[in-house]
Amino acid sequence: MNNPVAVVIGERLARYGFPDGHPFGPDRHAAFLREFEARGLQRNVQVLEPREASYEELLAFHTPRYVDFVRERSQTGQGFLDGGDTPAFRGVYEAAATVVGASITASDAIMAGTARTAFVPIAGLHHAGRDHAAGFCVFNDCGVVIELLRSRHGLSRIGYVDIDAHHGDGVYFGFEDDPAVIFADIHEDGESLYPGTGKAADTGRAAAVGTKLNLPLMAGSGDRAFQGAWARVLEHLERFEPQFLLLQCGADSVEGDPITHLRFSPAMHGQAAQDLVRLASRLGHGRVLALGGGGYNRSNLGKAWSEVVAGLA
Ligand SMILES: [Zn+2]
Repeated sequence: MNNPVAVVIGERLARYGFPDGHPFGPDRHAAFLREFEARGLQRNVQVLEPREASYEELLAFHTPRYVDFVRERSQTGQGFLDGGDTPAFRGVYEAAATVVGASITASDAIMAGTARTAFVPIAGLHHAGRDHAAGFCVFNDCGVVIELLRSRHGLSRIGYVDIDAHHGDGVYFGFEDDPAVIFADIHEDGESLYPGTGKAADTGRAAAVGTKLNLPLMAGSGDRAFQGAWARVLEHLERFEPQFLLLQCGADSVEGDPITHLRFSPAMHGQAAQDLVRLASRLGHGRVLALGGGGYNRSNLGKAWSEVVAGLA
């Protein structure tokens, strides 16, 4: 095997970002690379090039009507894709489809055995729903990867763990009644932060009741609160023995983010990655795919994601 950790980066992936001083700007990719290279991490990973997801791949999670809507708005670059958080820009379709393609590239490398674990910095767009954009997220790469792991690779239990400050509502509601998706999400309480969902009582619907774990934390919570919640995430995953682990490691839960109020240290992100690698190994497959997610303090995202890459190795 090549180096067992794959990192998907490249100029095409960097294009996913919104203009005019939007918090999710296109400079986030470079902000990650600066810290990643400063720590010499590129010497310990295999670098993969992203590709654009096909129209059919997007339809694994999204409705054709929504995908067509994004394609139309992408040509004019005018207006918003949602109520006002996620602006259209020229080429937004290609940029968003490349985020999805990057996450598919990473999960395919893991399933082919050419990588054991992988990281994609500009990815983990967990707010996008099956038929709508939301919260800076156009296409939900997490949702597409989960669907493809089942349809193309025949997996039947997939773990999705989310430590972004915001609740992963696009993934939660996308799979709310689906028992194949083992979901665990630590986030800032919806009383103080967008999108307002993710109450502890929400554990899934119908056949999926009990497969979803939502752990809201009060604004201002730090590492101690994270550790307590994290132990419950690990227990939840152990119970269902997922065959593949996804980690949405949004860096906006790190202290000093401009739009959220959690106060984790970047070391928590590293620990999360490391613990999931250990768990995946105990479960006999070793498969962990980490997706960058949010994070609007550039220094924080460089640190937290570099810790994740180091944790994956
Ligand atoms: Zn977030």
